[in-house]
Amino acid sequence: MWLKLQWARFFTLAGWDWRLSSRRGFDFAVTFPCGHSECSGSHMILVRVVDKTAEALARKHRETFGETAYDSPNPALFGDGPANTFWVMIHGAGGGDESVLAWIDGAQRMWERAAHE
Ligand SMILES: [Zn+2]
Repeated sequence: MWLKLQWARFFTLAGWDWRLSSRRGFDFAVTFPCGHSECSGSHMILVRVVDKTAEALARKHRETFGETAYDSPNPALFGDGPANTFWVMIHGAGGGDESVLAWIDGAQRMWERAAHE
């Protein structure tokens, strides 16, 4: 599936640590840095790649993971590109809905590069 390959390249370009997930139902285990003083330096998410848009991902995420969404590593649904990503997690003194767009500057450009390199 090309989408998974593109995500793997994207994580590499972003400098995010990734490996194939050994957990059933997930494609990648991804660790990315967080500089917030109340976080422990990084977050880890389990990524399932599904070909859906952002709104559908958020809906499906709530249906699938419900209350366990805040368990670490946090389950995440990634679709076609950084704008179509969704997970929830504790971050700093709060937390909530997350997207790759909030974590990487120029994510869309990086996604386009990942398609070609
Ligand atoms: Zn954090």
